[in-house]
Amino acid sequence: MTHYIQHPTQLWVSDQATLEAKMIAYLQKKLCSNHGCTICITCTQISSKDHPWVIWTTPERSYTLEQIDEIIAQSAFQLDDHEQRFFILPQAERLTEQCSNRLLKTIEEPFPGYNFFFLTSRSQALPITIQSRCVVTRLKATTNFEIYKELLQPFLSLQFSHPVNFIKQLENLDIKEQETKELLDDLYEHWADKLKEAIKNQDPHAHVIEKLIIILQNALHNPPMTGGAKIFWKNLYIHAHHGTKI
Ligand SMILES: [Zn+2]
Repeated sequence: MTHYIQHPTQLWVSDQATLEAKMIAYLQKKLCSNHGCTICITCTQISSKDHPWVIWTTPERSYTLEQIDEIIAQSAFQLDDHEQRFFILPQAERLTEQCSNRLLKTIEEPFPGYNFFFLTSRSQALPITIQSRCVVTRLKATTNFEIYKELLQPFLSLQFSHPVNFIKQLENLDIKEQETKELLDDLYEHWADKLKEAIKNQDPHAHVIEKLIIILQNALHNPPMTGGAKIFWKNLYIHAHHGTKI
């Protein structure tokens, strides 16, 4: 991915969920001093979209000229050497001709440190003036398991020491019952494989994995009810935390 990474104007093409997940992971890698640890203050700010250097602009039916003017104003001054700014424009196909024309000068010759990311699932619907100034990258669609990797981290690492972080992440996600069930299946399969391995290698942690698997089985038998996905995950976190204590 290195050849285009320095280009200040990029167009990423994929489905919305993939784009958002990859964008967040990219920014975390870029700005976290720990190469995207996902749990530090920088990483959590990025995933909850309130990092001061990352400006997300989301369109309603289409982008408005006011939104574009805001971006232009925010990128009009020179940055200090260590500073960077990332302007993210999801659903970029909702940029009108008028909006993209007004934005052109800004993205053509930005001051060093400014970056513009246009995200879209339909690059053909994007004004050609924008397309022609971007390095285009098509991203492979990610699975739910990848999209929610950060949320699942405690269940994958069995580190349940940051409940506040977990709840914060959860609040920022739009996770539903169906995705929850799929993620439980994925987690179950992941740990069922690990358990086989652990038993084969006479790993002393096998019994901890076994406990987690029982918790996951219980959860699969009692999936969340409509509107209950977030409570469900909080409870699962608590059960898994207590159940896997050594
Ligand atoms: Zn970090």
